[in-house]
Amino acid sequence: MKTGSHLNLLNYEVSITENNKLIEFVVKMFQKHNLFLIFSVDCMMDTNLQKDDLTGTIKFIPPLYKQRYQFIKDLVIKYKPKKVADLGCADCTLLWMLKFCKCIEVLAGLDIRENVMKEKMHRLSPLPADYLQPSERSLTVTLHHGSVAHKDPCMLGFDLVTCIELIEHLEAAELEKFPEVVFGFMAPAMVVISTPNSEFNPLLPGVTLFRHSDHKFEWDRAQFQSWAVAAATSYDYTVEFTGLGTSPPGTEDVGFCTQIGVFVRKYPKNGETVNSEKHTEHAYKTVFKAVYPSLKDEKYLQNAVVSEVLFGADIIKRRLLGNFKSEWKDHRDGLETKFKFQPFKYFMRRSKNLPLAETEKLAADRSTEPFIDGNTVYIPLAKIFSIPKVNQLCGTFEKLSKLIAGKVALSNDGSAVIVTIEYENEEQEN
Ligand code: SAM
Repeated sequence: MKTGSHLNLLNYEVSITENNKLIEFVVKMFQKHNLFLIFSVDCMMDTNLQKDDLTGTIKFIPPLYKQRYQFIKDLVIKYKPKKVADLGCADCTLLWMLKFCKCIEVLAGLDIRENVMKEKMHRLSPLPADYLQPSERSLTVTLHHGSVAHKDPCMLGFDLVTCIELIEHLEAAELEKFPEVVFGFMAPAMVVISTPNSEFNPLLPGVTLFRHSDHKFEWDRAQFQSWAVAAATSYDYTVEFTGLGTSPPGTEDVGFCTQIGVFVRKYPKNGETVNSEKHTEHAYKTVFKAVYPSLKDEKYLQNAVVSEVLFGADIIKRRLLGNFKSEWKDHRDGLETKFKFQPFKYFMRRSKNLPLAETEKLAADRSTEPFIDGNTVYIPLAKIFSIPKVNQLCGTFEKLSKLIAGKVALSNDGSAVIVTIEYENEEQEN
């Protein structure tokens, strides 16, 4: 084709991370094909903003809602709160993300729309794997149906309360009560509030008044900050402002797309602090509660210890029999067939050249090594306690004895785990 020829349509899908690379690419294509090209191009900006200069659409990568969840997750990783409540939790996605944070022991969600909360709440239930391998930490997840305009004692004692894109959905009367309920009554160590920054709106295509039809208001930075500072001052909190979603170069003066206030309670508060309103009536309805299996629960700890003990005992038995068998092979030429698979004690005596009395003395010394007597392997509890996982789970020898009592076969005096040797299998193996 000659210069100036028109090619109807060429669709190139290219991934370009810098504008200069885009220009380079266009120039090269012109040189190569020597023709007119029609491009549809998305520029992916490293600032996490995607702006199509041709159409004016703005997209955030990752999407802004994910960035907001990640912001909370990062705070959780940094401050390690044990009890976290998400107000206006909607479909519980943030709660679901937070359940994987090992520091959290109590998670609670609150929303005024019960159906939305229930849609995906099954994600908050323990998985089969949680039962197979219970976690060290305890975790309880609860969902409540109710309004942030009402106080309920179930929201007391939290370390972190998050309100992500919530306040702009509140009616004026609810918004008025919000500071008293959240900062005054719940009074967590930290509160995070995010809300749209209306100064960013002109950059968002299609946004005329508000970003969402259910928004009752949208504040600019000055409005949000003066409301937040007033609330913080009234309830003895500090507040710092940040945000997510940067604007394109040249429009930085509009601030972040999402504005965020991080409030930190100034005064210390322990669990025993008397709250005059602690005895407030319940206003919320609990719609979901999941208690995760945890090793802090004696039932799950016992299961875990018993299975580790049986597993460990089996390994010790096999190791012992392996050693025994190799010794057996060494000696079998000189022995009569009648010894085969029966006389372990006798064999020990023979192989170690010990008189029978000595063998029994060795057997009686149960605090030392495992030994075989007849068709039984004795594994002293001291040996079992030295298995790292068992030791870690039990902490003390007494706890080990207590947890396995009645669950694992023990010698008459309770000093050793006993495991029976299956002769027939042994014979088949030979
Ligand atoms: N926080 C979630 C997120 O970031 O994905 C959901 C935000 S959604 C935009 C706002 C949520 O606040 C909705 O699920 C709505 O039902 C809830 N909400 C509105 N008014 C409320 C109130 N008075 N009390 C509790 N939740 C409320």
